[in-house]
Amino acid sequence: MKQIVLASNNPGKARELGQLLGPLGFEVLPQSTFDVPPVDEPFPGFVENALHKARHAARHVGLPALADDSGLCVAALGGEPGVHSARFAGEPSSDARNNTLLLHRLAGETDRRAYFYCALVLVRSSLDPRPLIADGEWHGEILAAPRGEAGFGYDPLFWLPDLGQTAAELDATLKNRLSHRGAALRHLLARLEAHPL
Ligand code: IMP
Repeated sequence: MKQIVLASNNPGKARELGQLLGPLGFEVLPQSTFDVPPVDEPFPGFVENALHKARHAARHVGLPALADDSGLCVAALGGEPGVHSARFAGEPSSDARNNTLLLHRLAGETDRRAYFYCALVLVRSSLDPRPLIADGEWHGEILAAPRGEAGFGYDPLFWLPDLGQTAAELDATLKNRLSHRGAALRHLLARLEAHPL
């Protein structure tokens, strides 16, 4: 098994990625195993932030590192909240306050188009000149009021016209199949098969 450090402290992500990458011969280790110091996410784009986190983890651990960055981009807000999605309504991060602010900012707006975006970046080492980069998008609309209890973040406001449901009304398996994260993961697996570490 080749070891990869995951530049995230979310145990759910480590488990999910471990299940997907295990059959390809990778063991995914959360960076908490190695006491990696916290890192900022200073860039305006998802890919730059994921790359920054991956290089940081690889530098501290000395293993290949995988990082992700994701968020919601709303057309009528010029792509906001984007990389600020988790803290749109300020610190501490709160899904409820983020959703309330989003509805407030879209009050009276007829263009409700939005998409989730996920970037995944894998570096073989901290100075890797050619990181593997994969991404995914999930398009929908922002509802006027929340619906559904599943999921997290902006899911209760993210309406999927083809399904007649919000992301918070989907079961986890269907969400993983359709979502920006699922798409990015499938792309990453294809990149890894084409470019073995
Ligand atoms: P992170 O990349 O896991 O830190 O996610 C950034 C933020 O984007 C989250 O805190 C959510 O607000 C939002 N976000 C990302 N993916 C999703 C999703 O699948 N559903 C709802 N919100 C999401």
